[in-house]
This record gives sequence, C-alpha cells and structure tokens, in this order.
Amino acid sequence: MENNILAEIRRRCIENGMQPTDVPSPLTKVTDEHLQKQKRLYADILEVTEIIGENTIKLLNGQMVLFLVTDDKGLVIDSFGDRIMKENLSQLNITEGSVLVEPEVGICATLIALDKKIPFQTVGTDHFHLALHDSACHSVPFSFPDDYGGQGVLQGTISLMTSVVDFSNYPLAMLVNMVDSMARELILRRTNQRQLDLHHLMVNNLDTGILLVDRQGFIVDFNKIVINMIPDCISVGQTSLHITELGTYILEAITKGQPQRDIEIHYDVKGVHTVCLVDIIPIFEMGKIEGAYAQFRDITERYYLEQQVIVSEKLSAIGKLAAGLAHEIRNPLTTIMGFVQITRSRPLDPVTTRYMGYVQEELERVKNLVSDFVTMSKPSVPIIKPIEINAFLESVLRFMEGHATLHDIRFTTSFYTTDQDILYADAAQIKQVLINILQNAVEASKPNEKVTLKTRKQDNSLIITVSDNGIGISPENLTKVQNPFFTTKDSGTGLGLSVSYRIINNHNGEITIDSRLGVGTDFNIHLPLTCNNIKECSM
Ligand code: ADP
Ligand code: MG
Repeated sequence: MENNILAEIRRRCIENGMQPTDVPSPLTKVTDEHLQKQKRLYADILEVTEIIGENTIKLLNGQMVLFLVTDDKGLVIDSFGDRIMKENLSQLNITEGSVLVEPEVGICATLIALDKKIPFQTVGTDHFHLALHDSACHSVPFSFPDDYGGQGVLQGTISLMTSVVDFSNYPLAMLVNMVDSMARELILRRTNQRQLDLHHLMVNNLDTGILLVDRQGFIVDFNKIVINMIPDCISVGQTSLHITELGTYILEAITKGQPQRDIEIHYDVKGVHTVCLVDIIPIFEMGKIEGAYAQFRDITERYYLEQQVIVSEKLSAIGKLAAGLAHEIRNPLTTIMGFVQITRSRPLDPVTTRYMGYVQEELERVKNLVSDFVTMSKPSVPIIKPIEINAFLESVLRFMEGHATLHDIRFTTSFYTTDQDILYADAAQIKQVLINILQNAVEASKPNEKVTLKTRKQDNSLIITVSDNGIGISPENLTKVQNPFFTTKDSGTGLGLSVSYRIINNHNGEITIDSRLGVGTDFNIHLPLTCNNIKECSM
C-alpha cells in the first residue's frame, strides 16, 4: 500500500511538470499573526511535544534529528532539534510559518500522514526530489479533542526527520507512542484545568474571604474578597505572619496545629470600618502540618445591629430606672426647693442668706442632673428655633474656655459659615452636645495642644467638626463610644456621647468620627440646614 501511495504521488508530480532536480521549496507562508494564533491554539500540544521530544533527542544520543509540528493544513507551527538540520531545511524555505503543499515539496511523509491519517515514513529515494534523498522522514497524525479553541478537534502531525544513514523503524514507533502519551497527558491536563477553573470560580464567587498559607506562613493563594476585608496589601509568596492582628493567630495554627476559631477582628479598610470573623484551620497531610486555611466572614452589619440592640436594651433599662428615680427624687426636691425659697424670703443674717443661696444653686444642679438623665433615657422632642451659627458657637466656646485653660488647651476656630448663616435646632440641646464633645477633646489632648472647632456647609447640611490631636480611638472602641456607660476614663460616666448621639438623631442629623490612634480625632456633627419640621419650628 505504501508503494501505491508513493507511486500515485510520483505520477502527480510528473504530471504537474515537476523535475526531481528541482529544489523543493515551499513558497506559501502565513503571516506571523496567523502563526502566533495557531501556536496559541496548539499551545498544549506544542508544550507536551517539546518535553517528550527533548527527552527523545537525548535518548538518541547524538543522532541528528529534527521535530516538526504541523496543523491540519500542513502549516509548520513548531520545529526543534538539531541546529544544522534546521538550517538545511530553512535553505529549502521550510521554517515555522511555511505551509507544506504537494506541488512544492512533492513526496512528503507529513502530507501523506495528514491526507491518509496514518503514520508514514519516506526514506531517501522514496522522495521525489533528489535534494531529499539524504533524508528520512517519519510522521504521525494526531487528532485531539479541543475543549478550549472552540473548533471541536485539533488535528495535525508530529514529524521527525533524520539522515537516511541513521534510518530505522524505531522513530516511527516512538512517534506513535508519543502521540498516544500526549493524548493521555492532554486529557489529564484538561481535567486538572477544568477542576482548577471550577475551584477558582467557586472560591472567587464566595461571600467568604479565603487565604491559604504554607507551613512557613507564606501566602499560597487567596480570593478577591479577602482584599476588601483586610487593610494589608497581600500577594502570593509573601509572608502572612505580618498581616495586622491576624499574623499571630496564623503562626499559632501552623506551629501548634491548633484551629483558631471565631476571632473577631476590627479593621479600617479604605476608610470603612470592617468587622471580620476569622477561622484559621491548620491543614494536615499524613499527620504533618502542611499549612493553614483562613476564612473571613464580614460581620460588620451584624455587629452594628448587635451593638444597637445592646444600646437600646441598656437605654430602656436606664429609662425605667430613671423614670422611677426621677419620680422619687423630684417630689422631695420640689418640696425642699420650696422651703428654701420661703426661708430665703425671710429676714436672715447675711451668712445664712449666703449659705441658703449655695443650697439653692446646688439644688438647681441636682434638678438639672435628674432631668438630663431623663433626657437621655426618654428623648425629648427638640424645640426648634433659628440659631445664628457663628455667634452661637462662639458663645459655647466662651462657656468652655475655663475648662480648656484648666488643661492648658487652646481653642481655635475655622468657620466656613457666615454670620448670617442660620441653623434651625434646639439651642440648649446642641449646646449640650458641643460641650460633651469639646470636653472629651480637651480630656484626650496633652497640655499645650489645641482643639479646633470648624464649620462647613455641604449639600444643605451643616457640619460642625471638633478636632483634636489627642490619643485617638482604636477601631474596636470606635464602635462602642456611643454605648451608654462605655468609658475608658477612671472617672468617666460614659454618658456624654450616648446623650449626644441621641440628641443629634432627634435632629435628623448624624455624628461621624474619623480617628487614628496617637494622631487625633475628628468628631463631625452633621445637621440639616433646612427647617425640615415646620410644625416644630417656632420662629
Ligand atoms: P466619658 O467621657 O465619660 O468617658 P463619653 O461618652 O463622653 O464618656 O466618651 C466615651 C469614651 O469615648 C471615652 O471614655 C473615650 O474613650 C472615648 N472618646 C470620646 N471622645 C474622644 C476623643 N476626642 N479622643 C479620644 N477618645 C475619645
Ligand atoms: Mg465625656
């Protein structure tokens, strides 16, 4: 059969006016762009061929061989092996990018293998052209399912050229084996790739952050979500042991093999306070720690909800207590104050008059304290009146001046509001908020520092900012400062901010905090500038 095939081609060559003395020389070349496209399409096949091919070249021990890989159209996509043979072939114009066609190369094992879909070899004088009588060519067709290129199957040939003096049947058998091994290798690769793709798809679409580290704590892999959950920049190959707060837990997991669960971590990520619940699970292989797997759940929303529940539970408890207390204290207080007033209206010696004055003042303070307590537990509706912002703020600062001087603190202002700007609010309540926040700022600052009161208008809102360069607030405490009774001070009550938040909420405003430990804190009070509740607006 082989002879029949050769005879048939030989006849065609003669019919087409080819001469054995001609030099076979493919003129058909594809563009580099097309060549690169085919290289990409056949990338897996080329890679596996090169690996197996290079090993074969070593086995052949000095024998001159050249491998060629073509696609189904006879286009040479890859050639590797003996440099001199490659050079000789390029003299015949056969290089990567050449298309082998019968009218140009005559009898060629590669074209026969492609055409007849059988392994084929052409040796020495089998070739039509005299120029090829020194060569032996062996070629095996392949046909692999193509899951990625989208063409269904990838077809082509793997050919091996040697010198005719080295000819044996061994290379053809080897090429057949090679194509066989390739089929298996490719199936394996693709199964692996598919599993890997699936794994990436799953891991990257989870709501949970995932971080994998090896036994030394170096990062092996992580999904995109993790990046949004931690402030540190991470990359594969870098150590995880420096990740803020988390590093020590990872170290614990990979050195002791103990799972670390439900670690609550507070981060400021791109200015957003994030709360994560992290589990770190050691990975064992044959009883030895191979690394660890950390999973992150963003529980910020849940955390804030819980905090709110805690706050409102506390507030309602305080409310009940305060209502009872207020009732118990107010009645006798009113009676006492009445008697003091009566006593004062009588003729008394000057010393008693002075003492009675003190008593009345102190009783007034107790009365205010009781009503403050009631305000906090049972928010009163603000009495809205127009306030000239700048003048009002100046008066609050004057009121606080003594307190600041006591701590060696200086107040400065930076107002972007004009003397004509008006805020509709309950002046007494807003004053209380400012006093609370200014007082905290003073207490957080070191002597000789300054506390700045700023104003600006933004989209129909007034923002009053109290800035200090004091101790700052940790991300964890930042979520707690508005809780009643939360204090870090020995003699603090932890009520100032919770009252302030309530008052500002009742004004349809909000308080935001920017703080960095050791750098300072900005308390921003946002208040609507328009009189948004006309009914309560008594002007
Ligand atoms: P108190 O002042 O009685 O502690 P607050 O409700 O006024 O209660 O404040 C609660 C906590 O918030 C303080 O104990 C402090 O830890 C923190 N805090 C408030 N303002 C500041 C600030 N400007 N700088 C640093 N920490 C502050
Ligand atoms: Mg305070």
